[in-house]
Order: sequence, then C-alpha cells, then structure tokens
Amino acid sequence: MIQQRILSISFFLLIHLLTMAQANLFDETYVQYREKALENRRFKHADIKKLIEALPSNLYEVKIAGKSIQGREIYQIKIGTGAIKVLLWSQMHGNEPTATMALFDLFNYLKNDRSSTRNQILESMTLYFIPMLNPDGADAFQRRNALDIDINRDAIRLQSPESKILKEIRDELDPEWGFNLHDQNRYTSAGKTEDMASISFLAPAFNEEKEWNKGRTKAMQLICTMNETLQKYIPGKVGRYSDEFEPRAFGDNIQKWGTNTILIETGSILDDEEKQYLRKLNYISLLTAFKSIHEENYKGYELSDYEKIPFNGGVLHDLLIRNATVHLYDQDILYDIGIRQDEIQDNAAKDFYLRAYVADLGDLHNYFGYEEFDATGYQIRFEKLYDKKFVNLDALKKSDIKGLLSKGYTTFLIQSLPEAEIMARLPFRLIKINSTYKPSSVKIGQNPVLSFWQQNQLKTILVNGYLFEVTDLDKNW
Ligand SMILES: [Zn+2]
Repeated sequence: MIQQRILSISFFLLIHLLTMAQANLFDETYVQYREKALENRRFKHADIKKLIEALPSNLYEVKIAGKSIQGREIYQIKIGTGAIKVLLWSQMHGNEPTATMALFDLFNYLKNDRSSTRNQILESMTLYFIPMLNPDGADAFQRRNALDIDINRDAIRLQSPESKILKEIRDELDPEWGFNLHDQNRYTSAGKTEDMASISFLAPAFNEEKEWNKGRTKAMQLICTMNETLQKYIPGKVGRYSDEFEPRAFGDNIQKWGTNTILIETGSILDDEEKQYLRKLNYISLLTAFKSIHEENYKGYELSDYEKIPFNGGVLHDLLIRNATVHLYDQDILYDIGIRQDEIQDNAAKDFYLRAYVADLGDLHNYFGYEEFDATGYQIRFEKLYDKKFVNLDALKKSDIKGLLSKGYTTFLIQSLPEAEIMARLPFRLIKINSTYKPSSVKIGQNPVLSFWQQNQLKTILVNGYLFEVTDLDKNW
C-alpha cells in the first residue's frame, strides 16, 4: 500500500516535471527571439511596418490586406504549409498592443528556431496573422479607430475599412481556429479576489443562449491547455472573460461563422507597466496552443476544467487606503479610499504620466489594491498651502522642504511650473502663481493630497496617488 503510494507520488512528480519541461521549451529560448525593436506599449505602425518588410519572403508571404481609414497598411502575413488554418488578429483596439509585440516575437521564433516542435507546427498548420488591425488607433494609442468607431462593435454593420478587412479575410480563409487578441482593464481581478487577472480567456458564445457546439467546445478545451501552462507562471492570476453574447462583436460572430474562436485578454501584473512579462506569457500561450492543436491533446479537457477558471471581477484599485479616519462635517468618517491612476499621454502618443483620482470611497473591505496602506491609528490632514512664493522648482528645492512638510505644508506656489511628468512624481503639490487654487479634497474624481501623522509626527504623504514615506523623501526630488 505504502509502496503503491510512493509509486503514484513519484509518477505524479515525473508527470509534473515533464509538463514543467514542456512549458520551459518556449521559455528557455524566448530571450533570443524577443523582438528588441518593440520595447514599450506605444510603438507605432511605422515600427511594425519596418519589421514586416524585413520578414524573409522564402518563409513568409506578406500581403497588404487593405488600408485603414487614414491610409495605413493592414497586413496579412502567412507562414506554414499545413492543412489546419489558424487566423490571429491583434490590436483591433489601438491601445491594446501586448499581443502584437508577442506576434513579432513569434515571427522570430518561426523564422529561426530549429526544433522539431517548430517544424511540426508549420507542417501541420498554416498560420495567418493580422498584427495591428487598427493602426490609426495604435498611432494615437486609443481604443477606437479614426472614425471613432469601436471595431469590435462593427462586425455586422462593417462601416470601418478595418472591420471589412477582418471579415473578408475570415470569409476567404474560413480558418478552423481564430485568436482574437486584446488587452483588458488593469483593475480586472481573477474572481473577486486580490489576484489581478493578468491574462483572461474566453471561448465566446455564438448565441444568446450561450450554447456549446463543437467549435466553441474545442475553443474552450484549447483554452484549458493554455491556462494549465500559465498557472505555472501566474498562479491564480488567470481569469475568464464574461461570456455574455455581444451580437456586434467580432469574437462572438467569428465563432458563429464557424471558426473555433479564442479571446485572449492581457491584463496587468505588478511591476510590469509596459507589460513585457505579459508579452512573454502571450508568446508562450500561443505556442502552447499551436503545439496542442498539432498534438490534439486539448481534446482531453472537460467543461469542468474550463469552469475552474474564475470569472473576471473588478475589485482592484491602484492604491487602496484602508481605515482612514477623515474629519468632515465636524465628524470623524471611516473611509477606505480606492485610488486609480489614468495615463495622460503627450500629443505624439509616445509617452505618458499618471494622474490619480478617487475611484471609490466608503466600505471597500472586499476590494483590493496593487498597493495597500492601512491608515489605522494615523491622524489625517488635508493639503495646506504655504504662502511664500518660489521662482521655480529649483528654488523650492534649495529651501527646507522637509522642514516645511513636517510643519504640514504640502502645497507650494511656483512662478514657472516644471513639466507635468516631473510634477506627477513629486511628494508635494505645485500651484502656478496667480492661477486659481482650490484645495483638493477626498471626493470621487478628485486627486487628494493627504498627510498621515502619528503623535504629531509626519509619517507619510499621499500626492497624485503615490505614497511617500517621510524617511525617504529626499529620494523624490
Ligand atoms: Zn479590446
């Protein structure tokens, strides 16, 4: 009996090690295939155009499938000789670029890798890619296209050239498999837990009744293989997108038109603002899926495996301040404060800084933050304006800021303000002399400046959604 148990344990270990080794197959070589020309999310159409034009024509068949409303080329890229057709399209929402980066990593893998796995993929499948379906949106780093149409609500009416291109390619190829590649809101959680949904999947429904036909079932099974691989990298951080049928969306319709369709939504993870780790997980997921399509091992999964993946929840904030006692209307009010930060980008949509706002207030005990701060026992003070004026930030820096902050001053008058992205990271607030000044408050939509005190000693300052410990304030200017 004991022997049998040891045997089954070691068998389990062996299987486990084997599957680990399998997962690492794509991971081990990733660093050599990562496309170095794409290094952050705000790359442009011109950047990928260069890379596409450099693809070797003996392997890749590249054609211009059409043009966006502003005349940018939308490409169809083909590789492989197999009977199973797979179509992948990315970035139909211009500000959802993670998978596009992964596709270029994949192009390098397919070009350079000499493994039998790579050969088997290309012998059993023909892969078709439309990277960056919405180049106008990508260049402006916005969701919608230049007509301000959401392409993913245009699958039936087909008013955008980008939508027509996707529909035409789908109809012409009639692929067996389709991958609809997106990014999702960073506040999406995996279930109603503190775990962010770093990657979410969906086998979209093809009707209101959310029925399971053969194609949707296969898509669901293939998702299970990717989920299993991802759980080794981001345990608990895989979610399932809502399967509510959306009659205008491409994923739902492409499923209906007979292609086994999989939605991949890349979310966020701590300390990966430019989503470079999640880009790698996209790459590993897609290769895992290709390998599984070739080996047909996805067929071993059941609906119950899929249903184990928790539905997406939305219980996250960038910063959650718990148990803050704030004095308002002559009363002490116990607040949890949920703060989020929006990306404010420059005109060229190449760079950004973050601007905070209060997204929620009140009892948020069942919510979570990427960063959390327990304000129990702190006395909280609102922002306080210092009445002396400074020429610029340098002049302010030469004064005793630390001393002023520890007297409770948080806000300073400046003649010429530094750039917004510099101001966004300072542990105090700057106001331009002679502009209208309104002190911030703890209200929905506001960007509060608060200081946290213990025994009349300043401990922590909140400015623009960032917390600054008084002990290492110097680091921040
Ligand atoms: Zn999207």
